Amino acid sequence: MADLRIEYSACNACGNCIRSCPVNALYKKGNKVVLEENHCILCGGCIDSCPYEAISIKQKRSETINRKKTSGIWIYAEHKNGIMHPVVYELLGKGRELADKSNHKLTAVLIDGESSHWAKELIAYGADRVILCSHALLESQQDEYHFDAMTTILEEEIPTIFLFGATSFGRSLAPRIAARLQTGLTADCTRLEIDDVCGYLYQTRPAFGGNLMATIMCPDQRPQMATMRPGIMNAKEPDYYREGTVKRVNYKGEIKPRIEIIKEIIGEKKKSIGDASVIVSAGRGIGSQKNMKLVRRLADILEGQVGVSRPLVDIGWSEYSHQIGQTGAIVRPQLMIACGISGAIQHLAGIADAKTIIAINTDPEAPIFSVANYKIIGDCVEVLEMLIRSDREKQN
Ligand SMILES: Cc1cc2nc3c(=O)[nH]c(=O)nc-3n(C[C@H](O)[C@H](O)[C@H](O)COP(=O)(O)OP(=O)(O)OC[C@H]3O[C@@H](n4cnc5c(N)ncnc54)[C@H](O)[C@@H]3O)c2cc1C
Repeated sequence: MADLRIEYSACNACGNCIRSCPVNALYKKGNKVVLEENHCILCGGCIDSCPYEAISIKQKRSETINRKKTSGIWIYAEHKNGIMHPVVYELLGKGRELADKSNHKLTAVLIDGESSHWAKELIAYGADRVILCSHALLESQQDEYHFDAMTTILEEEIPTIFLFGATSFGRSLAPRIAARLQTGLTADCTRLEIDDVCGYLYQTRPAFGGNLMATIMCPDQRPQMATMRPGIMNAKEPDYYREGTVKRVNYKGEIKPRIEIIKEIIGEKKKSIGDASVIVSAGRGIGSQKNMKLVRRLADILEGQVGVSRPLVDIGWSEYSHQIGQTGAIVRPQLMIACGISGAIQHLAGIADAKTIIAINTDPEAPIFSVANYKIIGDCVEVLEMLIRSDREKQN
């Protein structure tokens, strides 16, 4: 735990700290400010608010942290049918950044059906070490086996930070491990940062239906665990000259899983808007559901996909899988044509990495124009019709 200290020789009981405390952990007793330790979440708000620098936090390591040897930052290397999940490269990129900042080693945990060729690849993308646990039973994505193998690995050492992709497999496996290690887990993070002094991982994710971003810490237990949304972080360029080590862990596979996989039926893979290189997107300015046909038509002509702002999903003109933004998909197209979208901050959060944006809006002051490379001030329906017509004329 950490200690919040009030230096009474400097404090003049102005009350700024009491007003700034989000959990009412500070109150006035006589002419003194007093701390209710059980309420304090160590957010540090009182420190920033104190004009007399009378408040400080002294970090102490909790005994629970030291109960096992912790060994740096780990990421879980999820793969299936011979394909590494793209989020693994993103986790390696983020993990490398955190490891460099906190002077930790980065380990990728690879649970595999056979001795794997992936180790070299994981090191190239940033791992210092790969923990490799291989057994024929681990070929399938039967998470009871994977959890059992993880338990074997964690008998020897535990990480200080353990990151998973927020995939359906990661969302199933990570909570089991967190429960086994009696630690916390922040699911579906959109941002991770590390305090290079005390090593706390600041895990940020949307909360209360996306109305605010909450930053969560796990000060007392180790590992600090998080699942990270795919498509948000950037992978680093691989360096195949990087060197690293491989630690092999034997797995006996003696458990009897409660779930038996009888048959695996692979559904049709839908194209994800996150991978589209061209997107024609529509907002409320598109006017009516029938005009969505024009958006789809132009997207087809450009061999792209359709994106929408949130209101169009809310009123049922589009499926959620097409929503772009803070609570939708993060996209990285080469070309984006935004039709009748105002450019609210929550929408812009999803298009920050779009290469070229053409925005069509009747309002010259629309915020979308501040991020657009090309601006068309006008009726988006007319512009769409014009573009489709000119393509038709070109074909004839
Ligand atoms: C917690 C939270 C999370 C959110 N998450 C998301 C998210 O993930 N994605 C998202 O998109 N939104 C999100 N929102 C909603 C966001 O705040 C905006 O309300 C939304 O993006 C606005 O959508 P819009 O631009 O389509 O509509 P509006 O803001 O109504 O803008 C319509 C635009 O169309 C223009 N227009 C009107 N007629 C025409 C025409 N004929 N031709 C051309 N232009 C025209 C107008 O000038 C205006 O700029 C979120 C909100 C909250 C509170």
